[in-house]
Amino acid sequence: MKRILLYLFYGIYVATCKLCAEQYDGQTSNKFSKRWNSHRSSWGTVNLSNDEEQVPLLHHVVHEHKIEKKPKISECFIVTFVEQPSYDYLDICEDNWLNKIRSSINKHRIALNDRLALV
Ligand SMILES: [Zn+2]
Repeated sequence: MKRILLYLFYGIYVATCKLCAEQYDGQTSNKFSKRWNSHRSSWGTVNLSNDEEQVPLLHHVVHEHKIEKKPKISECFIVTFVEQPSYDYLDICEDNWLNKIRSSINKHRIALNDRLALV
């Protein structure tokens, strides 16, 4: 039962930068709101010199827009849940979105780490 509930919420999301419309795509194998909360909390807790791999969204804002004081994530990004493919096709689907939006923020496959962490 737990497994079924979990699978209802996986999928692909796209975060769009409000400052330049650059997009970031990611996948979650967990409830989407949880995944977004984890972006929010790492945004809130890391400092600006943290590794890009940990905080790609914050890194984008700081380096592309030269913002020195950390803004709220909601001031910088709009997030949309875009697709819920068959569970086995999550990686393929994420790659498709990556090609579609040609994201420059997606330099690392952050979501894979998330999935490993869940195992
Ligand atoms: Zn931007």
